[in-house]
Amino acid sequence: MINIVSSEYNLTGEEENKLILREYRALLRALKERIKKGDKQRLRQAFEMAVEAHRHTRRKSGEPYIFHPLAVARIVVEEIGLGVTSAICALLHDTVEDTEITLEDVEREFGKTIAKIIDGLTKISNVVDIKGDSTLQAENFRKILLTLVEDPRVILIKLADRLHNMRTLESMNREKQLKIASETTYIYSPLAHRLGLYEIKSEMEDLAMKYTQPEIYTEIARNLKETRRDRTRYINEFIKPIRDLLVAQGLDFEIYGRPKAINSIYNKMRTKHVSFDEVYDLFAIRIILNSPIEKEKDDCWKAYSVVTNIYHPSTERLRDWISVPKGNGYEALHTTVMGPGGRWVEVQIRSARMNEIAEKGLAAHWKYKEGAPTQQESKLDSFLVHLSEILSNPDTDTIDFLQDFKLDLFTEEIYIYTPKGDMRVLPKGATALDFAFDIHSELGMKSIGAKVNYKLVPLSHKINSGDQVEVITSSKQKPSEDWLSFLVTAKAKSKIKSYFKEQRRKVAEEGKIILRKKLEQIGVPMSHYNLNELCAHFKRITQFDLFYAVAVGSIDLSELKSFTKNGEKLQQPKEQKGDMGLMTEGDLKKALPGKGEVVIFGDSSDKIQYKLASCCQPIPGDNVFGFMSGDGMTIHRTDCPNAAKLLANYGHRIIKTKWAKNKEISFLTGVRIVGLDDVGVIQKITNVISGELKVNMRSLSIDSNDGIFEGTITVYVHDREEFTKLCNALAALDGINKVERLELITA
Ligand code: MN
Repeated sequence: MINIVSSEYNLTGEEENKLILREYRALLRALKERIKKGDKQRLRQAFEMAVEAHRHTRRKSGEPYIFHPLAVARIVVEEIGLGVTSAICALLHDTVEDTEITLEDVEREFGKTIAKIIDGLTKISNVVDIKGDSTLQAENFRKILLTLVEDPRVILIKLADRLHNMRTLESMNREKQLKIASETTYIYSPLAHRLGLYEIKSEMEDLAMKYTQPEIYTEIARNLKETRRDRTRYINEFIKPIRDLLVAQGLDFEIYGRPKAINSIYNKMRTKHVSFDEVYDLFAIRIILNSPIEKEKDDCWKAYSVVTNIYHPSTERLRDWISVPKGNGYEALHTTVMGPGGRWVEVQIRSARMNEIAEKGLAAHWKYKEGAPTQQESKLDSFLVHLSEILSNPDTDTIDFLQDFKLDLFTEEIYIYTPKGDMRVLPKGATALDFAFDIHSELGMKSIGAKVNYKLVPLSHKINSGDQVEVITSSKQKPSEDWLSFLVTAKAKSKIKSYFKEQRRKVAEEGKIILRKKLEQIGVPMSHYNLNELCAHFKRITQFDLFYAVAVGSIDLSELKSFTKNGEKLQQPKEQKGDMGLMTEGDLKKALPGKGEVVIFGDSSDKIQYKLASCCQPIPGDNVFGFMSGDGMTIHRTDCPNAAKLLANYGHRIIKTKWAKNKEISFLTGVRIVGLDDVGVIQKITNVISGELKVNMRSLSIDSNDGIFEGTITVYVHDREEFTKLCNALAALDGINKVERLELITA
């Protein structure tokens, strides 16, 4: 990673050139073994072409632009393990997009393969930057996925590009930071995960968190740093006996402890409602065996028995991804054992080859020869086949599709057998119907039931790993919309959705004909303008919805009488107008003060309507953004569960917002407290809240169970400062173990 980004950028041209050359040589060194005859010259040519092309541009940080492609090339080689072709592409990745160089130039100098990859990379960045409608943005992601199917190197280089942009996000403005960080967690890190690039995935997520939730990020980072010494001591104590026994067994290995990513620690704290001190697996122990491929399985199990002879394993915690690797190619044995001092410790055992796959993902599986990628039998191939199947369906609604696809990316896998004993991999929670669709969409469409381990079950039956499933079909069967309520896989859902979309399209087609006739009768054409007026009046978002509603008779066309005609233009009745239409960007710009920033509960309040989102219930002092929709602006926290989705998909609807200094209004929020049950506890709590701090309490409810109580309190506070003060005061009470902000207050 290049680290010459500096705020006071004041190098001379000569010094800069030296640094650029130094980076280039580092790239050559990283490629060393992979450089064949002629490669050096091609690399040099690509490097010089890129230097020349970007000569006049600098990055936001002030450094010459060329440092960026150089850094991306090094990530591609060092962290993803790709070769010369990919390095050349990385060096040139921004040239066609940003400079005078054309695709033809690239093809002339470097040939078809490289030109095709650059073309893919250019297309991706073209679409990602589009400001405008959200389907376009979702469509971008789909294009990204499509290029992945064409040549996975495109997406791998794109991931390297994104990683470097994340590493240098510091110099961007806040708005850009949020947008890029959200996009990263929304699509790029799941993809990195799916491709088995675990290191890149966690670094991306940590960096994203650093910008979207800076306070929590720094707090966990600080905690990790403060506890490092103790942790090292503990890890050494834990490792010592294992090391001795492994040596005695004559194994060649490395063993070390590795801290978990900040983001995964935070997720644990959040989902398990625990504090930093209570997260027991802040680190994992790794044993990497340098065994020849024919002995690696045996050696891993040998190491496993060494570990579990010394420490007691938790019986539910053995994960064997050696016998059946994960869908993204990951292989390892994971176990959790009881370490010294009664602490659970996770131990991961794998061979050096498996470790390379764990770090560099499927790229390590799929070694590239120069030219066309070799079509080896690999897990990546079956993933790509799956992906291209879903994508080949042009009707899929892209935003929906992405949601489903992301679920597919993240969930754990189960292994199911066909009646003939073939294995299929499905996400956890998949139903018999998902299985049918996984085999073939035609089979899915005609399914009426299934036999799981010879027992008859309904289509909605959730299947488990190891089940043998036989699908029962009928030629009379037709898909039902209910199916969507229990289907889990993106493939099946998108097939069903497009089936019904096609049905609806046919119906809407009829509606269109009816409407055209009606309009002809009153003497106006079915123009875009007129259709928009109709949509606005009948409160339908798209023309398609309007046609559909006409066809099924859910709108009353006699209302057309109350429209006025202005030449060929139809005008909806006056009193209706205005309460519906989306606030356009134009309207918004007019309403916004100079800086394009909305001040919440400040001077701009009267001009723009907004409300606080019910999903995250922000209070003044929280990091927030505004989101425009049909009924005005909604204020969300940047750490809202919906934030990443909104920011990544609807960038153009995001409005910068700032809290006004205003102590007059108070906001509803809440805390969750856990402690030891004690007679006076409620008294103490209410004393602090209403008595000492004079905070207005709305509700208090306490559940107690076996000496432990758990309470939720909702209060009205003026801002975050006041809220923090309240939390601290409650935490200081005797017997209270935990105080945290309530994620959601239900009325
Ligand atoms: Mn770039």
